[in-house]
Amino acid sequence: MNTTTPTTTTTTGAATSTRTRSTRARGAAVLGAATAVLVVGAAAVPADAAMPASAAASNRPAAVSTSLAARAAAPAAAPTGRRASRVVYLTFDDGPNRVYTPQVLDLLRRYRAKATFFMIGSAARANPALVARVRSAGHAIGNHTFSHPWLSRLPASKIRSELRRTDAVLGRTTCLRPPGGFVNGTVRAVARSEGKSVQLWTVDTNDWRRPGASTIGRRAVGGARTGSVVLMHDGGGPRRQTVAALATTLARLSAQGYRFERLPACR
Ligand SMILES: [Zn+2]
Repeated sequence: MNTTTPTTTTTTGAATSTRTRSTRARGAAVLGAATAVLVVGAAAVPADAAMPASAAASNRPAAVSTSLAARAAAPAAAPTGRRASRVVYLTFDDGPNRVYTPQVLDLLRRYRAKATFFMIGSAARANPALVARVRSAGHAIGNHTFSHPWLSRLPASKIRSELRRTDAVLGRTTCLRPPGGFVNGTVRAVARSEGKSVQLWTVDTNDWRRPGASTIGRRAVGGARTGSVVLMHDGGGPRRQTVAALATTLARLSAQGYRFERLPACR
């Protein structure tokens, strides 16, 4: 049973290179990530028939605030084996990319894994066939803004414009991953009014720093618990290490009995 809090040791909220960030913002992103996964878990209980509510609840991180715990309370269901509830949510940001996204898709298919792709609107506009391929393979697609700005620095009108321009390319999305994980009250309010839930992560592989495929894979495999949301990137730079690490991650976690699903809030 997972009794740890969502992994924060490798979570930096970082999404792409060439940025600096304040320690405070980083902390906010970490807190946001912890909150996000709990909401995800709560949403997954009724939505996912394959995951008994009791099993999902029993795998919830121990450090749950009262309000979240209350919201997560679910009616008891017939218990099944622990392995049945082993789910990890793989997420890929900054694509689609014509070189790496197809490689990611091929690997996912090999393991019958579903994932969530948080696409940048401008990249999606340049690669409509890839968007279609991701969707037809059964993966979820989320909104990662049109031009990848730090949304927490923008006024509501600009945030809204980023989301809508992206949806104009992708079709209506139901979840948002803010670049860098930077969220504030304005970002959350606009996302809500645009019908999107904010989805962060609990395991940051920091693959964009290119620390080597083995390091990326070790972070993903070592950080994975039931309900973990793993952040990787299929675009925004060279991602050969990520692709290699993904192969390892899929193989090892599959061997441990994990399966890989789309984030329940994203379609
Ligand atoms: Zn990003």
